Amino acid sequence: MTEQIKRMYINGEWVEAESGNTLEVKSPATGELIGVITYGDGRDTKKAIDAADAAFKEWGSATARERSKYLSELSALIHKNRNELAEIIAAELGKPIREAKGEVLGAADNFAWYAEEAKRVYGETVPSTFPNKRIHVMKQPVGVTAAITPWNFPINMAARKIAPALAAGCTVLLKPAEATPLTSVRVFELIEEAGFPKGVVNLVLGEPQKVGAEIMANKKVRKVTFTGSTAVGKLLMRQAADQMKRVSFELGGHAPFIVFEDADLDAAANGLFESKYRNAGQMCICTNRLYVHESVADEFAQKLVERTQKAVVGDGRNPETEIGPLVNQAGLDKVLDHIEDAKAKGAKVLTGGHRLTGGEYDQGFFCAPTILTDINPDMKIVSEETFGPVVPIITFKTEEEVIEAANASDFGLAAYMYSQNVSRCLRVPEKLEYGIVGVNDGSPTQTQAPFGGFKESGFGREGGKWGIEGFLETKFVSYGI
Ligand code: NAD
Repeated sequence: MTEQIKRMYINGEWVEAESGNTLEVKSPATGELIGVITYGDGRDTKKAIDAADAAFKEWGSATARERSKYLSELSALIHKNRNELAEIIAAELGKPIREAKGEVLGAADNFAWYAEEAKRVYGETVPSTFPNKRIHVMKQPVGVTAAITPWNFPINMAARKIAPALAAGCTVLLKPAEATPLTSVRVFELIEEAGFPKGVVNLVLGEPQKVGAEIMANKKVRKVTFTGSTAVGKLLMRQAADQMKRVSFELGGHAPFIVFEDADLDAAANGLFESKYRNAGQMCICTNRLYVHESVADEFAQKLVERTQKAVVGDGRNPETEIGPLVNQAGLDKVLDHIEDAKAKGAKVLTGGHRLTGGEYDQGFFCAPTILTDINPDMKIVSEETFGPVVPIITFKTEEEVIEAANASDFGLAAYMYSQNVSRCLRVPEKLEYGIVGVNDGSPTQTQAPFGGFKESGFGREGGKWGIEGFLETKFVSYGI
């Protein structure tokens, strides 16, 4: 289906790119054209920044309760339109519709949460050293905020940035990923319906490098919140240095998933399935390395193979689908390259190990869910983010050894462990160098909990009371009385 060209939302108006360029959005499952967007550059970005800057004066000084009303309204609208939004995500990303619905509800929950959190931005008074002085500490919005988001969670990545930024009193421009802009366009129609004052929230659709260059060079932008690859995160951090722009980064991951000999193996297999195959393995918190104690490795591998071979792979729009396609050709190529590299270096394939072809699979970017054994540290899959449905099984003998192996990564986003031993469940997470640890839990994310990484997985936290901190400055006022 072709429709009219979807436009950007700048200063309360739907506008086309100055360049007149457009970009096609295609289904990764079928290759069909599902939409066309206007595709801008630095000029459109500058307009959005100017609009956000002009709107900041009023929005930044509005009461928290006023801002809260708009956020609550938006949350309700997202909830009301959840099925349509989920269908757009399933169409442009290929994500299974059940997962897409969960993501949309997560976004509504974020707006609801920050509608409340807006009211809890408290200051402090601090006892002074001197009898004739008083110390007040207050929190104020950072200012114009640029949010740059990836394609793997088209609505929730945007919500986790826009909601706390607006709650704090910042004005925002969002630049979504090229693969999944249609979800953002629909969200901004709801933003318009919620009645936000013009310029408070803006949508820029355009070439990443050009949009990014304007965001980073423009002094009116005080804060950049980015979720995406570590490579682009590092580039933006270098660019931010010149102006000391505030930045927060949610970057790549390489999660270890540890199954101890005292684990409930059925629960661990379910947890692994969830953590590995959700969104076809295209999650920053996806399991990348599965460590299984040698005494239970064969039994666990058997359970996993059985469960994996039953998985329904297909177009996310089909309600039966459990695992959708990869996002694009480059995504598929990377996954197949990791499989071939592992095979060439001695890995054995227990199931999968190839692109899916035949029938409906020929039109899309489908990879068979894959389990590999006989893994060694030289394989790319052990250190690089695969971003696909591939599980490498690595065996271990001792707790110390597996903790060391799990921490031997430049990334530090999420880690998982399964054990029925209470002491171990308390001991091991303390030693894992990761920002999020799932203990007997393959799906740990929740709105109210802090989400973010150690090491090259970035810094700053999204979610809960922590998520708003990155959009606030701390001001100290000293009173002589
Ligand atoms: P990406 O880095 O290629 O793109 C992310 C966003 O940055 C997109 O909007 C893209 O258009 C934009 N971008 C690209 N080059 C840019 C530039 N030069 N200047 C400004 N913007 C630019 O990442 P992706 O492929 O869209 O997403 C996958 C990556 O995101 C994975 O590494 C994944 O782990 C990571 N991710 C992290 C989290 C987290 O919370 N830590 C969550 C989801 C995804």
